[in-house]
Amino acid sequence: MRLAVVIPCFNEEQSLVRLCDRLLEVLPGVADEFEVLLVDDGSTDRTLSIARNISAADPRFRYLALSRNFGKESAMLAGLGDAKGDAVAILDADLQHPPELLGAMVGLLEQGYQQVVARRTRTGDPRLRTFGARLFYRLINRLIDVEVQDGVGDFRLLSRAALDALLSLDEYYRFSKGLFAWIGFDTAVVDYDNVPRQGGASRWTFRKLLDYGIDGVVSFNNRPLRLAIYAGVLCTLLGFGYAAWVLLSALAFGNSAPGYVTTICGVVGLGGLQLLLLGVIGEYLGRIYFETKRRPHYLIKESSTAPPLTVSVER
Ligand code: UDP
Ligand code: MG
Repeated sequence: MRLAVVIPCFNEEQSLVRLCDRLLEVLPGVADEFEVLLVDDGSTDRTLSIARNISAADPRFRYLALSRNFGKESAMLAGLGDAKGDAVAILDADLQHPPELLGAMVGLLEQGYQQVVARRTRTGDPRLRTFGARLFYRLINRLIDVEVQDGVGDFRLLSRAALDALLSLDEYYRFSKGLFAWIGFDTAVVDYDNVPRQGGASRWTFRKLLDYGIDGVVSFNNRPLRLAIYAGVLCTLLGFGYAAWVLLSALAFGNSAPGYVTTICGVVGLGGLQLLLLGVIGEYLGRIYFETKRRPHYLIKESSTAPPLTVSVER
């Protein structure tokens, strides 16, 4: 089997060398032939020059450098699109995805699975974060049509068939978790213990997680728009009901001045609802706008096959 390992790297100078050393220990025992593809996602530290050095020292390590920071999804896509081999593994550069697991994963692939995903346990995570994640997956699985699992991330191994299927989806907004689930294929799961991040900092903030959640929902179906219709119907019914009641109470009991409070509540509440729903529509519209531009997902500034003419001195 020829195995390719794709590693998106953004400011990973602290772990890259260690990761490659570990890969060198593991990979020869796992696959007949292998290549490692380091994708530098516009890092601002020494990641790129380290990648150049690694690849110069060992041609089985290749690198690609994007022209700026395009985000992990794009970096991953760049690597996957360029990877050669019968199977492709995706690994984070921060040593949170133990390469030692690849042996077991390749074993499963050889048994006939097309996708092997690694699922991390959440030991050692802050309580609140674990709770938040549980809630997120509960919610998102209700909202979208494909099933995504907690602890299952981008650490996975794809057969050539699964990879080609994935690459055939060329939408601009990529919610990988959903896309991996969407392509289907026989999928096996391998569990591993959570490893705290080694060096550097995670890019996730609460705000980003929230955005990620919205992305997940919006890029997988139009159920929020459906919800908007239901909410609209409900409000209309309530409005008519209330109007009927006011009319009735005026006719029957001579109550001709219904509350000021109800008026304000009605105006503010409905105004809020309308803005919210406009936001939902806008979100979809914005996506259509970006999709229609058909811009590339990433641009490559250099790679191991096309290195820069003058290699920049260590920064
Ligand atoms: N990454 C990337 N581009 C980015 C942000 C992150 O290529 O804009 C890479 C990063 O180098 C790492 C992986 O994506 O290899 C996961 O990033 P991180 O560890 O920050 O995320 P987490 O593990 O917390 O989900
Ligand atoms: Mg990480």
